[in-house]
Amino acid sequence: MYQSGEKLAAATNLILHRTGQKEIQEGITVIVKGEGVWVYDQDGTQYLDMDSGVTRPVHAGYGREELARAAYDQMCQLAYFTPMQFANVPAIKLSEKLAQIAPGEINNFTFECDGSEAVETAMKLARHYHYYRGDKARFKIISRRGAYHGVNGIGIRALGTVMPMRQMMEPLTPGSVFIESPYCYRCPCNLKYPECEIACARDLSRIIEFEGPEYISVFIGEPIQQGFGAFKPPKEYWQIIREICDKYGILLIMDEVICGFGRTGKMFATEHFNIQPDLITMAKGITSGYVPLGAVGCTGKVLEPIDIFNHLHTYGNHPVPCAVGLENIDIIIREKLVENSAEMGKYFLEALKPLEQHPSVGEVRGTGLWLAVDFTMDKKTRAPYPVANLLNMVARAKQKGAIIKMMGMALEFAPPLIIKKEEIDLAVKVIEQCITEEE
Ligand code: PLP
Repeated sequence: MYQSGEKLAAATNLILHRTGQKEIQEGITVIVKGEGVWVYDQDGTQYLDMDSGVTRPVHAGYGREELARAAYDQMCQLAYFTPMQFANVPAIKLSEKLAQIAPGEINNFTFECDGSEAVETAMKLARHYHYYRGDKARFKIISRRGAYHGVNGIGIRALGTVMPMRQMMEPLTPGSVFIESPYCYRCPCNLKYPECEIACARDLSRIIEFEGPEYISVFIGEPIQQGFGAFKPPKEYWQIIREICDKYGILLIMDEVICGFGRTGKMFATEHFNIQPDLITMAKGITSGYVPLGAVGCTGKVLEPIDIFNHLHTYGNHPVPCAVGLENIDIIIREKLVENSAEMGKYFLEALKPLEQHPSVGEVRGTGLWLAVDFTMDKKTRAPYPVANLLNMVARAKQKGAIIKMMGMALEFAPPLIIKKEEIDLAVKVIEQCITEEE
């Protein structure tokens, strides 16, 4: 086992994701074990994982033998078979299970390796739908500033606005068009809810008319958006987007990759808004991160005109992650983790709210177990807050034994859905200390 970070930096052949040379030289922490909401490094130091693996899939917590057993049993039974012209039992059962729990008429599913592939596949399904209906010119995709929809291929990169990950790949595939995000704390339209009349959603009509409705295939958005720090749009937002999409024959994809499987206190965050999407993308919490899996669900309306789905991915509908996904969803339902997310999320939010008294804290918000503390240099003007200060707080939290993440000008928290009050209390203490020390 590696004994020190410095040794690791010199010895490893591993390429890390989004990690600068300076951090690598300073030494990288190697996580060797996880249990419940805790992870342990190579020196035995324990960390309270307030971000479920930092990219937040670990809904059921670490060390679940049931999930390991599901993978083992399935590997012994049937480790792999092609998704073309053959089916397998776990994929069939998982599609049945998802049809029971997914919003409304989302009844048809296909499985990929991760969220990025799920998004790419959803876009392809949408193109197939239009193609078979004779609408062959519909290739453009509308998404939102601040969106993140994954890494696969340049096509998906074109949908995101995480600039360092985007700029190096310019020029991107044509066809991505953006509208503003419903980020009310720093409204991109400089308006205030409710007088704004949800201008950020209504602007979709203008963009569609400008781009040409006959060229637009889909609108994609996360029901609750990550960029700028988890924020829930006003209650009318998705209804307006849905109506505009319907008016122009555009399909609506809800990207539930982060939100799905209880993260926001509902099985799917779409349920907060009472609308019917045409397609849904899922990943992360579908297997609690134990094995990679992404899924796309669509309604009968989308599938009906499609003669053949021209898509073949070696690991599509893979039986092993599907078996783990089935067991994981059983755990989520059996242990009432969606309910726990709603209840503990409320407790966490109430515990964080007093932080708004600090001079640099602009807004504390959250839905279920996905919360954010948004910072500002000036509460009146909501002036930007330096990224360096946020990075300091993230580093300090780690020294104090809690792993947290920054997003936009906010600190974000998305712990495993099994978290208890005592663990939340510990986290709040660390967060408050980090803020106080930064002031
Ligand atoms: N969509 C959303 C909303 C995401 O947050 C992410 C990843 O964070 C993705 C898609 C891509 O998922 P993955 O990293 O599993 O490819």
